[in-house]
Amino acid sequence: MGAQKPRQERRGSVRIAAAAVCLALSFGLLVHSGAWDAMRARMRSSRWEPQKPTGHDHLTARMRAVRAAVTEKFELPAGSGCFREDGGIEGGGEHPLGRACDFMLGPAGERATGSSGRLGRRIAAWARDNADKYGIWYVIYEQRIWSSRWPQRGNKPMEDRGSITQNHFDHVHISVY
Ligand SMILES: [Zn+2]
Repeated sequence: MGAQKPRQERRGSVRIAAAAVCLALSFGLLVHSGAWDAMRARMRSSRWEPQKPTGHDHLTARMRAVRAAVTEKFELPAGSGCFREDGGIEGGGEHPLGRACDFMLGPAGERATGSSGRLGRRIAAWARDNADKYGIWYVIYEQRIWSSRWPQRGNKPMEDRGSITQNHFDHVHISVY
């Protein structure tokens, strides 16, 4: 026998190694299939109970807190618009639910450029950076969308919706959970 391990013990470690390989493979499959992302996304959004709008502005407390923070931090040249009976997009979006605000960068329909364009990018970056703190769901600016459900996908290009406003070149849209 000498220094050789008993056969039983060797078989045991082979079994453990095989189990580890299986585990690694199934984990890889999970990540590859997107199931892992979906699970993480569910975990992230389940932290935030949906709220009902209240008060004269028809906003949820969560949305009101985001609007207050943006208004305090940035000088908005043209204010913001939040509650709308019609969300402006198919399906309504979050505006009719009091869970979305548009932060205007200038006159509606006019593309924000130069310092207003930079302001838009700063607001959008702030919203992404503070999503966890305020329960921000997604941010749209300059025809790009970032979602806290899919942060690993980054700031994704969107389809052309047809106009400067619909493509969010004149305002930053923020939705909360
Ligand atoms: Zn909007």
